[in-house]
Amino acid sequence: MPARPRWIVAFIAAAVLTLGCGELPDPAMPDDSAPPPSAAPTQSGEPDGTATVEEFNRDARGAVSGAETYWSGVFKSSGVAFTPVRTVTPYRGDGELSCGREPIPADNAVYCPAGDFIAYDADWAVTAFRKIGDAFVYYLLGHEYAHAVQARLGVEHRYAIDHELQADCMAGAYLGDSVRDDKLQLADGDLEEFRSGLLAVGDPEGQPWFAPESHGTVAQRTDAFFSGYEKSLDACDLT
Ligand SMILES: [Zn+2]
Repeated sequence: MPARPRWIVAFIAAAVLTLGCGELPDPAMPDDSAPPPSAAPTQSGEPDGTATVEEFNRDARGAVSGAETYWSGVFKSSGVAFTPVRTVTPYRGDGELSCGREPIPADNAVYCPAGDFIAYDADWAVTAFRKIGDAFVYYLLGHEYAHAVQARLGVEHRYAIDHELQADCMAGAYLGDSVRDDKLQLADGDLEEFRSGLLAVGDPEGQPWFAPESHGTVAQRTDAFFSGYEKSLDACDLT
């Protein structure tokens, strides 16, 4: 039986939607014309809400191709064959896409093990990109890609929160190692954008840690991400 889909968490909607979602042109499907893995977050400084959908798409492609390069390198050095995630698909609104039989809800991003694809609500992701900054896209897709890697490794956890915090750690390892290997260059403010992004995706206060939808508090998620960012995969309990 395929594992359940993993949502990044819907609470970010509350954090970003106060800006209001304008009508956006159709974001292009990430495609094979992805930039080289050296693609870097392009904005610097404070996000000012004017970033374009083209900029978003470029960063989304860079984040996915960077993750693919990173994980194929990790697998190769362990002598294990790596299969990239099948597709990365933007969607719009509730239920336009399904994972298995489960409709994928609006304002979210997900790795779907049943179809081996990553999907994200395009309007929601672009709004978060504008509000938080381009580094958020690298975090978001790095996290979803980590779920795909967990699936490939057969990693399972009793509690969802452990699975989610491990994915945050793995996203951090991908980004930190890519920076250390000069495959990714951060602009001024990108580290702060990771922090703002994590601030926006923490569980609401009072949510029990063992709830199936729990991903971790802001402090837990920040700690998991930066542990991986600073110490690489050794910090992520993958063995
Ligand atoms: Zn997740």
